[in-house]
Amino acid sequence: MTPTLFADIPRNLLEHFAHPAAEAITFTPSANAGRLPSAEYASALTALAGRPDEAVAVYVHLPFCPVRCLYCACHTTVTHEAERIDRYLDTLEQEMDLVTERLGTGRVLSQLHLGGGTPNYLSDSQLIRLMEMVTRRFRFGANTTAAIECNPRRASAGQLELLKGLGFTGVSFGIQDLDARVQHAIGRINSLGLVRDVCAIARETGFENVSLDLIYGLPNQTEQSFESTLERVIEINPDRVRCFSYSHLPTARPHQYAIEAGCLPGTGEKLGLLQSAVRGFTDAGYHWIGVDWFARDGDELADAQLAGTLRHTCLGYTSSPTRHLIALGSSSLGEVDRVLIQNQPGIDAWRSEIEAGRFPLHWGHTMTDADLRRRQAVARLMCNLDVPAGLATDFDRDYERLTQWVDHGLVEFSGDTMRVTQRGRYFLRSLCAPHEISISWSNGQSNVARVC
Ligand code: SF4
Repeated sequence: MTPTLFADIPRNLLEHFAHPAAEAITFTPSANAGRLPSAEYASALTALAGRPDEAVAVYVHLPFCPVRCLYCACHTTVTHEAERIDRYLDTLEQEMDLVTERLGTGRVLSQLHLGGGTPNYLSDSQLIRLMEMVTRRFRFGANTTAAIECNPRRASAGQLELLKGLGFTGVSFGIQDLDARVQHAIGRINSLGLVRDVCAIARETGFENVSLDLIYGLPNQTEQSFESTLERVIEINPDRVRCFSYSHLPTARPHQYAIEAGCLPGTGEKLGLLQSAVRGFTDAGYHWIGVDWFARDGDELADAQLAGTLRHTCLGYTSSPTRHLIALGSSSLGEVDRVLIQNQPGIDAWRSEIEAGRFPLHWGHTMTDADLRRRQAVARLMCNLDVPAGLATDFDRDYERLTQWVDHGLVEFSGDTMRVTQRGRYFLRSLCAPHEISISWSNGQSNVARVC
């Protein structure tokens, strides 16, 4: 059933919302698309070396898990061989050297993020080694935030203490849903007691930011079951919650065939689940950030949203003013000056490029002036929910296209500024998606650079 709030939204937009893969709409094939910008990336790093006051963010991808969750959409590998992870760390160190040969060492980190995979699947000695590798090349400053994604089942008091001692300030636990039927259907079991305990221990250990990740649109989820999960999550009182949309694409991710499509909520129900999250968290005092992030008062994202300084990067929403994101590890996304890159998603392809002394690029794009202006407009939409007419240069056709949603109450005008309405926020990614830069390759593959 389509919830009342969305009753007059055209079916095709609802369907578009329900299938995020459809967001990959070609907008502006850029003149330099189709060629890997390795030389430009190297030059951007070298140029940045001459501006030592500019901090960088670093993302490290750790693509290893002990088992595969059925809903998984990440670049990861199931392994039980510690040597495989050791070997990955060997190559990661070589990749760091490729970067610091151009950038130099000692650059201040604004943000460090370990994602995966399951970063806390690494042993204590592997985590210590990884952080030694990072801190030999980059410098923690007074305002550095360092966060790690964790599976609560693999976390322990000892591990959290180690992570805190290694400099991590934030930890996020992927719990997805607390309902037993949903957990069974997705192959990921985390009891409420376990989630409560790891969050309490993380707080006692001194983490400044304890976040939880939820997913809506999972099999067997109903508004009632999800509301019960939301109530229990709110009782745990995380600083931040990211509530992701499940995307069911079994042809691309065959393990998802194990999820019965008949148990998935329909388009309207899925919107209803997001609506429940928005209502539940905002009633509990959380700030609604973007489409599906929620943050407590005092959380840096909430403060940045209030101050109008919120930004959106490949790592999601951030309060960090740093533009440069160094990508490390297979499949990582990065950006230095005008150059956007993604590393090879497969570990073997990633390794063989690095061993040959090359950046392990899978795709890349050097942004033109027009791309940068368009990005600024999309960033305004994603973070401030508006686009002043003055920012609409290079955005005209799309600015006009967005106006079609005025009649449906998704956008509205105030003077010469277009604003996304509260209802339109549920469709924010779909509204922004056609403005991304599409890159087509000669081999027929295409990728979308999320430039906001
Ligand atoms: S823990 Fe995350 S990355 Fe690993 S299989 Fe589950 S969803 Fe995928």
